[in-house]
Amino acid sequence: MRRETATGSDLSNKSRAASLKEFSIEYPCEALMKGEIKFVADAMLGRLAKWLRVLGYDTLYYRGTEAEPLLSIARREERVLLTRNTRISTEEEAPDVLLISDDHWDAQLRQVVERFNLAEPRRAFTRCVNCNTALWPLSREQAKERVPEHIYHVHLTFRVCPLCQRVYWQGSHQKRMQAMIQGLYSGNGDPS
Ligand SMILES: [Zn+2]
Repeated sequence: MRRETATGSDLSNKSRAASLKEFSIEYPCEALMKGEIKFVADAMLGRLAKWLRVLGYDTLYYRGTEAEPLLSIARREERVLLTRNTRISTEEEAPDVLLISDDHWDAQLRQVVERFNLAEPRRAFTRCVNCNTALWPLSREQAKERVPEHIYHVHLTFRVCPLCQRVYWQGSHQKRMQAMIQGLYSGNGDPS
């Protein structure tokens, strides 16, 4: 829901940014209004970033401690900035920012899903958790040389990251992650 008082077209960028912060609960996220939501997570949120990639969301992870590059990439690439840093979240010229309140990755993930009302993901397991690149299909023949023999014999479909070359298949690890995702979206308490 939006507040009409915060959406007037005559607002300057600066006052609009202030309005966004003031009405951060009611005002729809700018990135959501433009299409697929993308994120950039700060150095404290590595595990959250990996899980957002598992769900299929384009999520950069910034390992540095300086605020300015983080703000800059969020602005330039229209990414929602996820941070544990209260100073960043109150920055005058900050882009869309979500201050993550919990120490634990599962509660953090729940906060992001609820805040942006993210639907159950249709593109889970299509992005490299290591480097955020979209995965490519890998033929079984090509996978044969690259995965352990018992994996090759048991699985029919594989994917590969074109950047870091990591190979993915739907093993028990992925099934556990799938169960966690279902728990997350069915609202069943602690997913772990
Ligand atoms: Zn990769």
